[in-house]
Amino acid sequence: MPSLPTAILFDLDDTIIQAYAKPEEAWSRLLAQFADHLGDPADPGALDTTRRTILEEARDFWGDPARAARWRLDIGGARRLVVRRALARLNRPDEALADRIGDAFTEMRRQEYRLFPDALATIDRLRGHGVRLALVTNGQAETQRAKVVRFDLERRFEHVQIEGEFGKGKPEPEVYHHVLDRLGVRADESWMIGDNIEWEVIVPQRLGMCGIWYDPHGIGLPPDSPVRPDRILARLSEILE
Ligand SMILES: [Mg+2]
Repeated sequence: MPSLPTAILFDLDDTIIQAYAKPEEAWSRLLAQFADHLGDPADPGALDTTRRTILEEARDFWGDPARAARWRLDIGGARRLVVRRALARLNRPDEALADRIGDAFTEMRRQEYRLFPDALATIDRLRGHGVRLALVTNGQAETQRAKVVRFDLERRFEHVQIEGEFGKGKPEPEVYHHVLDRLGVRADESWMIGDNIEWEVIVPQRLGMCGIWYDPHGIGLPPDSPVRPDRILARLSEILE
């Protein structure tokens, strides 16, 4: 019999569904489709250079917390801007092409969303044990709600809280307070599980919850990290062991 809390809050992206992982590999595949526009017979590494520049621009773009909070409500628009900046930095500015590339990446990601193999079974077994469940996700109302519907998650959670619908996103404390309120549970009888160290471990721990880090790709914490997740899971089903 696993030792389980009264309530568990789950993150959605890259916790229940695989959404944004492995960007290098994803951009390589996407850019290959645009080889006619981006390739250069004199430079066999042109696509690699483009990918590297896009990833650098993306890191820079998302590295600013205020900008990230604004643009995570319009990921598609953000991707267009990032690719525009990358092409401009490569001295081949082309906003129309950048927007096509950004949109194609967004659509490729959407098509490739997949549940982690053990996600639904784990959620259903937790429900069977009587654990109160909430889904807490940042992002735009329409895109996040579409994922919830597509993967049949709505009926599995007592409360689904989407940033674009609620009006605030993680890591703002009101987000967690509201979820706990809706479930009618205390912080110290609740776990938060997710792949984002700040949003799903540090802040929940500060609020009195257990912060459980989901690390499905085995990346591990940096050796000098001061963060101590209450648990680290490689698979969601480990919480039932
Ligand atoms: Mg996540």
